[in-house]
Amino acid sequence: MTLPGPLSLNTVTVKPLTLAQAIEACARHGIPGISPWRDVLQAMGVDKAAQHIRDAGLRVTGLCRGGMFTVGKRAEAIEDNRRAIAEAHAIGADCLVMVCGGLPQGSKDLPGAREIVRDGLATILPEARAAGVTLALEPLHPMTCADRSVLSTLGQALDLCDELGEGTGVAVDVYHVWWDPDLARQMARAKGRIAGFHVCDWKVPTTDLVFDRGLPGEGVIDIPAIRAMAEASGWTGGVEVEILSNHWWAQDPETVLREVKARHAFC
Ligand code: ZN
Repeated sequence: MTLPGPLSLNTVTVKPLTLAQAIEACARHGIPGISPWRDVLQAMGVDKAAQHIRDAGLRVTGLCRGGMFTVGKRAEAIEDNRRAIAEAHAIGADCLVMVCGGLPQGSKDLPGAREIVRDGLATILPEARAAGVTLALEPLHPMTCADRSVLSTLGQALDLCDELGEGTGVAVDVYHVWWDPDLARQMARAKGRIAGFHVCDWKVPTTDLVFDRGLPGEGVIDIPAIRAMAEASGWTGGVEVEILSNHWWAQDPETVLREVKARHAFC
């Protein structure tokens, strides 16, 4: 087994910090990559953030997130995704992570929701291509199908990539794909198309559908095995630590950052 690639800090992991503080913390802790969420990016100002990230010499492994095509009015969702593409371009992100949206409010039409997602991606793709921003489709665990993403498996994401073509890829988040009996086959199929690799862990028991992720090594996911599949498919990016956790958000961010670094070995 090879050693894990360089760390990247997804800013949600240190949610109490501003983006300026997170950039500074990465530099201080020797974490060479960062992946901001759009709320902290916008709070700092996109141009200023881009400058700080460049000055700190950080690789931007992704921008979280575009998508949510099934929420609210179509035109507004498309417009918001256009802004996200421009932001990803401005900060030199490896990709724009796409969390595509769940069922529209009050709807039971799952095939229809998937059609909205496909249509939304096809609509914004020309702009993403023009900006040189890869749309990284992130399948989410099916437990979030109703409210976050009707895109639930890596196979489904790759089918969309096949259909939409250039400018699309996948974001593999171990939390969302580890359970999939078809994972090895789909990871091989993803060759050359893995634009992001997110790590965290699945705790037993998991007490919240979204906000109880563990740090690598706290749970049952064989992260190095999935990383090896990603590497075999040509992925060479940063190992992005993305911890949505009420527990870890309540700790001192300095403690969390030390833990993140210590747990690189579990990736
Ligand atoms: Zn993720």
